[in-house]
Amino acid sequence: MSARLLDSFDQRLRLEGVLATRTGLHIGAGSSGDPLATDSPVVRNASGAPYIPGSSLKGVVRSAAEALFRNTMPLADADEVLASCDHIAGKPCVTHDDLTGFREDHPEDSQAVAEAIWAKSCTVCRLFGSLAIASRVRFPDLPLVGGAPLLELRNGVGIDRDKELAASGVLYDFEAVPPETPFQLTVILDNYTDWEVGLVLYLFEQLDQGGLALGGKTSRGLGQVRIDWQKIDETSLEKGNPFADLLSTRELLSPDEETATESTEKELPLPTTGNVEDWQTLATILRALPAIDKTQLGKQAGKQDFVKPKLSDRLGLGLESPRQKRRAWDVVLQRFVDSGFLVEKNGRYLLAEDSLEEAAPEEQELAEHNPVLQKLYDRYVGAMAQLWEATY
Ligand SMILES: [Zn+2]
Repeated sequence: MSARLLDSFDQRLRLEGVLATRTGLHIGAGSSGDPLATDSPVVRNASGAPYIPGSSLKGVVRSAAEALFRNTMPLADADEVLASCDHIAGKPCVTHDDLTGFREDHPEDSQAVAEAIWAKSCTVCRLFGSLAIASRVRFPDLPLVGGAPLLELRNGVGIDRDKELAASGVLYDFEAVPPETPFQLTVILDNYTDWEVGLVLYLFEQLDQGGLALGGKTSRGLGQVRIDWQKIDETSLEKGNPFADLLSTRELLSPDEETATESTEKELPLPTTGNVEDWQTLATILRALPAIDKTQLGKQAGKQDFVKPKLSDRLGLGLESPRQKRRAWDVVLQRFVDSGFLVEKNGRYLLAEDSLEEAAPEEQELAEHNPVLQKLYDRYVGAMAQLWEATY
């Protein structure tokens, strides 16, 4: 338990991804003081670009965690307890009087005071921190990904823009970051348990599914976002060796190295007619070409005695007339396409393995079904689900 009190560093999980707006997003910066400016600008960094303060995101996620656990079970003096106090209503799990009492009980023993605080703290305070306890989950500010978007100006709640102008001579507007604006998302957990990671993943799933919203004007539909995890790194301290290999970091979202090697060495399927070795020779030539076309293929293959009149017989192409035989290289490329060795795309030929790499944008849609991410969800959210089951 002492590690979770943060008096030592054992392990760190770093989640990285993109948080993109689905709708407008308004995180206010307070009045700008400029009479010509909008009444409610969005928060900006020093260079004027909008960003999402990590504290705003943490606030939303923490409130949702409190709502999930509040009043669901009495606080028990157990190490793993699912319960939440009510900070907003001024009912913290560890009060000022508690703190004073712990310090009187354990003068000059800060470790004992920390342990007493920990024992009386609720699930949410233990993870997200309180005045008495350090947070073990951090939300750095979220910078924009790419260039600054054109901010939207929207009318205020229930106020007709023209009428408001006529009534007071003051335009009432607020600024919003437009939909489809991506921000770089980072969440860091220290000395976590699996179920705590599961809780965080669950809360972000709620954000992604629209059950939670960010910023202001959420009753008007603003603040809906999408979450796309891209990298999950686990760093653990190698005990007993604080020097050379102090930390080892593992990227949990990337496949094992063995799997990666297998896929690059995987043989692509070749046509099965005619002479197998001849197809293999041509396949080797195709792999070496900077760009695949029949002229280049014919030229390189010609050096190894592949001449057009003989192609049909050697490769079993079934070409009979001299006119058909002149098209032999076209037929050869087509056979490679038919077998799955080549892919034809927009009039050019690609090795099937390269065409997979080029298909990155389409693959993003598959991210939701990423089996590695699914495994992590099973592990972390599974631990949370089990604890929930055992508690309630
Ligand atoms: Zn609490």
